[in-house]
Amino acid sequence: MHNQDKKPIKGIRIRTVNFLMIGISCILYLLLISATVNVSKQYENVHKSMDDYIICERSDTLLLEGSAYLTEQVRLYTITGKPEYMEQYFTEVHETRRREKAMEQLKVYYDGEKAYEYLAAALDYSNQLMEREFYVMRLVSDAQGYEMDTLPEEIQKVILEEDDRQLNAEGLMERATEIVYSSEYEYARARITESITDSIESMHEVTHDRMIRNANALELTMRIQRGLMSILFVETVVTFLMIILLIIKPLRIYVNCIKEEKQMEITGSYEFKYLALTYNDIYELNAANEEMLRYRAEHDPMTGIMNRGAFENLKKLMEVKAIPLAFLIIDVDKFKLVNDNFGHEVGDLVLKKVAKLLQESFRATDYPARIGGDEFAVILTDMTVEMQPVIEGKIQKMNEILMNPEDGLPQVSLSVGGAFSEKGFTEDLYKRADVALYEVKEHGRCGCRFCQEN
Ligand code: GH3
Ligand code: MG
Repeated sequence: MHNQDKKPIKGIRIRTVNFLMIGISCILYLLLISATVNVSKQYENVHKSMDDYIICERSDTLLLEGSAYLTEQVRLYTITGKPEYMEQYFTEVHETRRREKAMEQLKVYYDGEKAYEYLAAALDYSNQLMEREFYVMRLVSDAQGYEMDTLPEEIQKVILEEDDRQLNAEGLMERATEIVYSSEYEYARARITESITDSIESMHEVTHDRMIRNANALELTMRIQRGLMSILFVETVVTFLMIILLIIKPLRIYVNCIKEEKQMEITGSYEFKYLALTYNDIYELNAANEEMLRYRAEHDPMTGIMNRGAFENLKKLMEVKAIPLAFLIIDVDKFKLVNDNFGHEVGDLVLKKVAKLLQESFRATDYPARIGGDEFAVILTDMTVEMQPVIEGKIQKMNEILMNPEDGLPQVSLSVGGAFSEKGFTEDLYKRADVALYEVKEHGRCGCRFCQEN
């Protein structure tokens, strides 16, 4: 019964498409989430590299400031001889420690980089310069006559050169001034500044490179993100199109088919095709059942010709149609005797034979029916009184056949009463035919009479 058992159904399966779309969507969403996380991370990296740059620039400034502060304090001490400048100098060296702090900060970001090396060199130069500054401060301290044990350890440790030891207070001050304003001292300071400038430049380069790298990575990830979003958009559109083509469209077609009581078109997805084939199978089965039921309702099960019920319906139809027609009532003569003498089964065979003869003798537009036990009726459409001899001839022929059986069945004959109507099946048509039949029965049976219209 199932068509789908005979022929494999071809078509896209909604189930497969659904799983596929769910899979693709999940992968795309996961990729998109990861791209989005990367974008924010890379944005943070770009941001951080800028922050780092600012911190490092500050570190360089700190070192520069620390170094300049030391020079300033030494020079002030040299000019004024006031011990607070020396104290401030050593506070910077031991406590404030701007240069060391700058180095510590920078080490975090640029350890192993050129920028750090330059800055280490700058610190180195600054430390070398400090040795000279200690010397200057010793000269000034001696000139000022400060007690040795009140001086910082670094100053106490300074050993004056032979020539300088010979100098008086004024000479010592002059010598100190000479040193801190000498071109040699300036050169040493310039070297520190130069190293710091180199460090800043190098740092700039490194940071710039880092920023470019991070920015490029960010741009790439953002492109990937945009690409993924476009694919997701396309996927969504494809999903909607699939829903329209595979579900909504066939659904509408199928609903129309059901409304119009037609077989379903085999269209859409695999599932819909399967549904349509199943529906069509059931449709065909129902149609066949209906046909069978209708046939049973309309036909006499024994003879196969129209039964009484269908005949009544046809009568009503012919009442409405109002066409010229003839009506015959046919009764088998002395049929009881057939049953009595030959048995009921033989009687049945005789009735079948009569029905078959009626079917064969009349036209396709004439309707024979079994309306009682051995009683038959025929409605002959488009028939006028002029055709009476033709009908009589046919009945005579039938009686000849029935009276001279070649099939071993008993001899029987038919009595037929007929009537004509020009306007369809009228109320008295049946009566007139019945009267005519009665007359035939009264006058020896085996014949045909017509009762004319009053
Ligand atoms: P008449 O010439 O006056 O018509 O005599 P008749 O014996 O034919 O009388 P009637 O028409 O009244 O008898 C009909 C008989 O048909 C009565 C009944 O037993 C028989 N009969 C009715 N239906 C069937 C059937 O389906 N099969 C058989 N074998 N006999 C049937
Ligand atoms: Mg009879």
